[in-house]
Amino acid sequence: MLFDYFIQKFNSVAHYDHFPWQAMLLTIGVTAACLVIEAISVGWRRSSMYQLATRGRVLHNDVFSFLFFLTGLTQLAGLLFYAGIFYFIYGQVMKHVNFHLIASIPSVPLQFFIMLLVTDLRDYVIHYYRHHLGWVWELHRFHHSAEDMTILTSFRSHAAEGVLTDFFSMIVFVLMGVPAETYLLVNLVHQAHQKLTHSQINSDWGWLGRYILVSPAAHRIHHSKNPEHYGRNFGVTFIIWDRLFGTYYEPDTTQQIAFGLPDNEFNKDGYVRDILRSYFRSLAVARDSVLRIFSRDKKMTLPDTQRESVETSL
Ligand SMILES: [Zn+2]
Ligand SMILES: [Zn+2]
Repeated sequence: MLFDYFIQKFNSVAHYDHFPWQAMLLTIGVTAACLVIEAISVGWRRSSMYQLATRGRVLHNDVFSFLFFLTGLTQLAGLLFYAGIFYFIYGQVMKHVNFHLIASIPSVPLQFFIMLLVTDLRDYVIHYYRHHLGWVWELHRFHHSAEDMTILTSFRSHAAEGVLTDFFSMIVFVLMGVPAETYLLVNLVHQAHQKLTHSQINSDWGWLGRYILVSPAAHRIHHSKNPEHYGRNFGVTFIIWDRLFGTYYEPDTTQQIAFGLPDNEFNKDGYVRDILRSYFRSLAVARDSVLRIFSRDKKMTLPDTQRESVETSL
C-alpha cells in the first residue's frame, strides 16, 4: 500500500501531473514584486538582485533553492528522503478526519484573518522545534547558513524540512479544514511577508514591527551569529507569539549583525552536496537520539540543538 502510494506520488511529481502552475506563477509574481520594492527602497547597489549577481558562491544556495523550489525538484527530493512515508500518513489522515471548524465561521474576511493567525502560530511552534530538536536543527541549519540576507534566502530551506512542515501542518488542516481560496490568499500574505523579512531592507517598521508584525530587523536578529541572539524571534509573520512566549528580542537597526553559523560548512561545495550532507547528519542525530533513549551513556556524538552547536564550537 505504502509502496504503491510512493510510486504513484513519485510519478505524479516527476511527470508534473497536477503541477501547481498557478501557485508557481504566483510565487514568481510575488518574488518579482518584492525584488522591485526592495530595489526602490534600498537602491540598486544594495538590492538582492545586485548582491545575487555579484557576490558569487556565498549566495549560490539562495539561487539554487529558488530554482529547485520552482521546478518542483524540492518536493521530489523531499519525497525521496523519507520514501513518501510522511506524505502517505498525511494523505490518509486528511482523507478520514476533518472537523471543518473554519466553515462554521460565517464571515469570509474573519475566516481569512483566523487562518492567518492559526497558520502563523503553527509556523511559530514548528520553527521553535526546528531549533530545539537535534535532527530537525541539522536540516534547518541550511536556512541559517545564509551569510547575507536576500529575498531568495526565504527559499533557502532543506527539502526534508519542507516535508516535516507539511506533515505537521496536518494538525491545523484536520481541525480547521482547507478552504482552497482562503488558504491560497493566506499563503500569499505569508509568502510576500517572508520575502520582505529576508530582504536588504533593514527596518524595524516602528510600532508595527514592535507589536504586530515580524520586521526585517527582527528576523535579522534570528539569523545572527551572535549567541546572545540565539533562540530569539522565531515568529514568521506576527511578532505577537514571540512577545507572548518570551522569545522576543528588540532589534537595533544601527547595530551591525554578522549572519550565518559559527562553523559554517555550507556555501562551499555546491547546493546538492550541502543538502545531502545535512540530510545524513540529520539521520545520524536521529539515530543517536534513539540509541540514547536505550543507552546508559547519555552523551551525544553530534551537537543536539542550536544551543549545543554553539557550545561545542566555542
Ligand atoms: Zn530558524
Ligand atoms: Zn529566515
